[in-house]
Amino acid sequence: MLREGGAIAVRFAKARPGSFSLAVLGAALFVSAIVASAVVIGRVTDELIIPVLDEGADYADLLWPALWAVILVAIWKAAAIVLRRTAAGYLQFRVQADARHDLIEHLLKLELAWYQRQSTGTLLAVSDTDVRQGTFILAPLPFGIGSSLLLIGTVTLIVLIDGWLSLIAFICLAGIVAVNMQGAWKMFSAFRDVQVLRGEVSSIAHESLDGALTIKALGRIDYETERFQTASEKLRDKLIHVLQMMATYRVGVEGLLSAITVIMLVAGAIRINSGDVTTGNIITITYLLSLLFIPIRIIGFVLWSIASSRAGWERVQDVYDVRDLVPYGDLLPQAEESGAHVTGKTVSFSYEGGETVITDVNLAIRPERVVAVVGPTGSGKSTLTALLARLWDPSSGSITIDGRDLRSFARSALPGEVAYVAQEAFLFDDTVRGNIAFGVLADDQDVVAAAQLAGAHEFILELPEGYDSVLGERGTSLSGGQRQRIALARALVRKPRLLILDDATSAVDPSVEARILERLRDSELPSTVIIVAYRTSSITLADEVVFVDEGQIVAHGSHSDLTQDVPGYARIVEAYADDAESRSES
Ligand code: ADP
Ligand code: MG
Repeated sequence: MLREGGAIAVRFAKARPGSFSLAVLGAALFVSAIVASAVVIGRVTDELIIPVLDEGADYADLLWPALWAVILVAIWKAAAIVLRRTAAGYLQFRVQADARHDLIEHLLKLELAWYQRQSTGTLLAVSDTDVRQGTFILAPLPFGIGSSLLLIGTVTLIVLIDGWLSLIAFICLAGIVAVNMQGAWKMFSAFRDVQVLRGEVSSIAHESLDGALTIKALGRIDYETERFQTASEKLRDKLIHVLQMMATYRVGVEGLLSAITVIMLVAGAIRINSGDVTTGNIITITYLLSLLFIPIRIIGFVLWSIASSRAGWERVQDVYDVRDLVPYGDLLPQAEESGAHVTGKTVSFSYEGGETVITDVNLAIRPERVVAVVGPTGSGKSTLTALLARLWDPSSGSITIDGRDLRSFARSALPGEVAYVAQEAFLFDDTVRGNIAFGVLADDQDVVAAAQLAGAHEFILELPEGYDSVLGERGTSLSGGQRQRIALARALVRKPRLLILDDATSAVDPSVEARILERLRDSELPSTVIIVAYRTSSITLADEVVFVDEGQIVAHGSHSDLTQDVPGYARIVEAYADDAESRSES
């Protein structure tokens, strides 16, 4: 534990050597100020206070120098404290910020499959409390190093005075360090449990808040509250347990320190009797020992912090160590002004640990065609379109656009060619304009054009501040259909060569949807368009239809051909139409 904890500390110190050195310097100055103040107080007592009190000596000459000495030492000490604390604080918060930044960067490079195995709340806890806990060591470490100078100095002085007494002192001090180490080890496993529980509490809180609507709608407020309370009480009990343990060790260590003083006095008296040391020597040693207690206490604190840091940091490190990175090639987007030519060769896919969802699919879509993907629920339409946007990679087979494998594109190159819009429109807490442009350099004209194409322009103008209206988290101030249209505009403003809409207009009014799709088809946009569609009105707008069932492409052709030749297809389109009708009647 010490080795790994030490490695963490070294890593942090190396990352920010400047502030680390400053903090150690501050600590060294502080420690020397403590020694200096002891010396000054001693001399002021000997040379000023005692002569004045005992002999009524004239103090006029000595008063000011003595006063100045005390003031200077106080300033020295204060400056050292400010330097040490500021630099150590800067170091700690800087390292935390670096760690969080690296963590988010790393997380966003990981595969979707990895996210499916994680709880968002736990990941939040890792980037918050685990990072904080992991950098705990940085608070006492500079002080620990600075005060070890005091340790070396005082130990040397004690050894010079008397060999025997120093041997006794070292045995006692080694005992104290051993007790501290044992405490740190126990603390480590307790801190570990604490961090796991913190993750659980955060995960439940995240789920409850995220699902607030469902919880309220189903009247499960009490149940959720209790679930949260159970977890947070477990955390509370564990934290109290840690505190009790810390307190016990603290009392033990303090007791041992006092015992050492007594032992040294007794042993010293024996040595005085045998004539080996003088009374003055014993007074000096006792004073030095009291100085020694400062670094001993700090070292104990450093050991405990190592335990706490290691417990937090190993959870951060676990995330850093995840190597489920999406692999990329080095292809850049083509500057071509035409739709993409999409092919899939013997594509199969299964989600992690699941059955095969897409089986041996072969697919060819010519540039600038509008293709509807139709099939029963659970047949694999969403999965297929997600594969075409490379949200997942096929388990076997390959998908290409214009003959180039999706996996050979450089990172962030593919989104320049392919835009994917899911049914769930995720909007950010930003303005409408910010949500549509979302990171691309689009001027106002482009944004408005995209919004017009997506059928969003009119309602955006009716918002209180038009394109400058702020949408709130996840765009909750809009209706589902409005959110979907903004998400569509966000895809269109990128002028993709392949546009994939996975049921992305499901919440839009059918007549509005039909108009949007019509406009898309007739627009100058050089895009191949793939739409997962349910409404007959949208299916009939497509140039061709891909009929998917049980993870396979059963038929591929025009709507009228498929209606005639494929009984299953006709049935499903009819069923959708009936469904839509009954819904519009009700
Ligand atoms: P569709 O869009 O046609 O309704 P999907 O592609 O969403 O079908 O689902 C196809 C199959 O894959 C279903 O059996 C579903 O349970 C499964 N599936 C979909 N998404 C996931 C996922 N993220 N993880 C595991 N299984 C999934
Ligand atoms: Mg779907």
